[in-house]
Amino acid sequence: MIEKILIANRGEIALRILRACRELGIKTVAAHSEADRELKHVLLADESVCIGPPPSADSYLQVPAIISAAEVTDSVAIHPGYGFLSENADFAERVERSGFIFIGPRPDTIRLMGDKVSAIESMKRAGVPCVPGSDGPLDDNKRRTIELAREIGYPVIVKAAGGGGGRGMRTVHAEASLLNAVALTRAEAGAAFGNDTVYMEKFLENPRHVEFQVLSDQHGNAIHLGERDCSMQRRHQKVVEEAPAPGITEAQRERLGALCTQACREIGYRGAGTFEFLYQDGEFYFIEMNTRVQVEHPVTEMITGVDIVREQIRIAAGEPLRQRQEDIQVRGHAIECRINAEDARTFMPSPGAIDQFHAPGGPGIRVDSHIYSGYRVPPYYDSMIGKIIAHGEDRAAAIARMANALHETVIEGIKTNIPLQMDIMADSGFQAGGANIHYLEKKLGLG
Ligand code: ADP
Repeated sequence: MIEKILIANRGEIALRILRACRELGIKTVAAHSEADRELKHVLLADESVCIGPPPSADSYLQVPAIISAAEVTDSVAIHPGYGFLSENADFAERVERSGFIFIGPRPDTIRLMGDKVSAIESMKRAGVPCVPGSDGPLDDNKRRTIELAREIGYPVIVKAAGGGGGRGMRTVHAEASLLNAVALTRAEAGAAFGNDTVYMEKFLENPRHVEFQVLSDQHGNAIHLGERDCSMQRRHQKVVEEAPAPGITEAQRERLGALCTQACREIGYRGAGTFEFLYQDGEFYFIEMNTRVQVEHPVTEMITGVDIVREQIRIAAGEPLRQRQEDIQVRGHAIECRINAEDARTFMPSPGAIDQFHAPGGPGIRVDSHIYSGYRVPPYYDSMIGKIIAHGEDRAAAIARMANALHETVIEGIKTNIPLQMDIMADSGFQAGGANIHYLEKKLGLG
């Protein structure tokens, strides 16, 4: 087994990784910024190394600082968590060239999936259903672009191949605005992602976001852990996630799951990954693959009993998967609420000192959070301060437990989005299940 892992991340996911390492008897190194000396996992880690000033660009995104931290601590492997450098192929390559294990897929896989055009091409080859679209990048031939959009049918969406985080997309409702939209998206993509390749897809009007979790080892074995529904979104950011996805049948799960695991074997995938789909009128359309652990992985862990982070580490150590597909059983229903340090109505970030923190508990409740009474939320990073996960024998039981857990939670000193999460749990549209990706913004009066 790997002896020591450097955790190149912060917050709840760094603590989650530390816990998995502890269970596996692996020593831990917390690589942290100057603003994060008091983070829970930094205090709990066997060793810690400060890698730079507070802004992420000077610390959590500083590749040489992270590699040197791994060198001076004799770390064997680096876990990138999510966000920051987790989907940066050049970073993964530097990690491996420096003689460390990268806990994630091979760099060329990250590169292949990081470019949405090449990701879609490889998924099509593997027989995964994709959104009808331009089948590759748009070129400079304006007449061809107009023809393509007519063939696809309006509305269409112009997307940057290198886009991410919900940026680099433009919906076009009529031919008159098409060429302008392509030019604008191209210019923005070049500036923001250093890659001005754009492509076109049919714009699906009322889809749900349904994604499949996979695990794939270095010996050609791949399994899926079923799907999650992450349709409760604001500005393309997930707010509530759940598993299984309401209304998805066992037959659909088996069919899509098999396609995803087949795709993993074809591209030689390594580690944990997620295939994201839009789901509309009973059909699935692949949009992208995330080549890392996701924020919402706990809902899958709760219904399958598989520890995804521990499996990531075992796979990176070269172990074969312990579970076969037939061992994976879905039990009950799980919901995750992301807890953010922000105003529940205006969404303005609310960093500062947490005077009091009482975590919820009871049957089926899990709290993944790095906060504690006296902890100061720094202003430099993402506003998520933790996640509450509720498991129940069915969806209604999970919602009831989550509602209780939100009521029990006390966070004083800063504002949080707990009031919004309570509203969502009490909302009849959410309770009915199967709401689409626009539902939350419409409810908030934004859509
Ligand atoms: P990112 O990498 O920025 O997250 P995605 O390709 O995953 O980009 O798309 C993010 C979100 O944008 C989706 O969850 C969905 O809400 C919307 N979206 C993307 N493609 C389409 C499409 N073809 N039709 C409708 N909505 C889309």
